[in-house]
Amino acid sequence: MPDFSPFIPAHIRKLAEGSQSKPLKQSQRSNKPIALNLNENPFGPSPLALQEMQKVLIETHRYPEIHATSLTGTIAEFHGVQPDRILVTAGATELLCIVARVLLGPGLNAITSERSFIVYKLATQVTEGKLVEIPTRDNGYDLGAIAGAIDENTRIIFISNPNNPTGTLLTAAEMDWFIERLPEHVLLVLDEAYGDYATDFARQRGVEYSHAFDYIRADRNVILLKTFSKTHGLAGLRIGYGIGPARLISAFAQVRSVFSLSSLALAGAIAALRDENHIGQAVANNSEQSELLTSKLSELGVSVLRTWANFVFCELNEDAAAFADRLLSRGVLVQPLRMWGAPNAVRISIGTPEQNARLIEAIRGLVRGAAKP
Ligand SMILES: *Cc1c(COP(=O)(O)O)cnc(C)c1O
Repeated sequence: MPDFSPFIPAHIRKLAEGSQSKPLKQSQRSNKPIALNLNENPFGPSPLALQEMQKVLIETHRYPEIHATSLTGTIAEFHGVQPDRILVTAGATELLCIVARVLLGPGLNAITSERSFIVYKLATQVTEGKLVEIPTRDNGYDLGAIAGAIDENTRIIFISNPNNPTGTLLTAAEMDWFIERLPEHVLLVLDEAYGDYATDFARQRGVEYSHAFDYIRADRNVILLKTFSKTHGLAGLRIGYGIGPARLISAFAQVRSVFSLSSLALAGAIAALRDENHIGQAVANNSEQSELLTSKLSELGVSVLRTWANFVFCELNEDAAAFADRLLSRGVLVQPLRMWGAPNAVRISIGTPEQNARLIEAIRGLVRGAAKP
């Protein structure tokens, strides 16, 4: 076959040449390790979603609703916002890619923090725009430095609140401060994928978490990201949404892949949105287990950041990739963070009480093994 590569845009060619990324380690059906690496719901999918999906299986020869009208209406009612401010996408990930594709181009930039959600980088890379990563402050976003880095070519700020992978929180007051400093040519992508967990922690700890819906109602340049991948337990379905100004939402809608939302995902999400029992179970378990896990890990000499999400960021005294490999040989999968510039850190998702006990047991085994002469 003739070499077609000269006709591939240079910025994409460069990505393909530089790509040596190993496939993501994921739990397989056979010989399944305990998967504490991707912040999934440890209790499985919403049972209400499963029931609804069973019903529509028989209809899968039909194309799905092209504009996701039913789910959009359900979400609009749930949050009390107008449907024209909502865009449903194949996970929050698809929306991040759309936002980057629409708003970035040669000479333009997006800003985020170091040690934040890896998809911000992936979404920006395929545009010709640049991603500026501001160093962390107290392991989280340095809003002052981010505000200071905005220039006339900035179009997007990506903020994950709480942040993945450090689990840190920005309070509502801190975000209010930041919003006031946003120039008109910049869109804030406010990613609250872990919002259900953070809301619960904030209530317990007496902190005000988020004014995101105030920003939406005031029609600020903010798009709020939500997902069904976390508390709803539907990561494999690929469904999420954004809420923002109608004029932007309608532009983003033009770029969404046609029929990217399957009929199963649409039906499952409608049911899962109001599955309070399932969401509540995940949240309650998480609040309880995060404390237990944090104290047990600390006893084992692992230093753990206080989390506002369903995972803990842990600093080790050793290379985290090697640690993760040894842990996997003991049946537990965790996420080493070298790609995030933290070679001695791992992110561990908070599991069920049984899973967490097995994690602690496995780490204890490693520590004992290392102590042997
Ligand atoms: C898990 C996660 C999401 C969800 O992404 P989906 O594509 O909806 O699965 C979004 N943002 C952050 C920061 C996350 O960790």
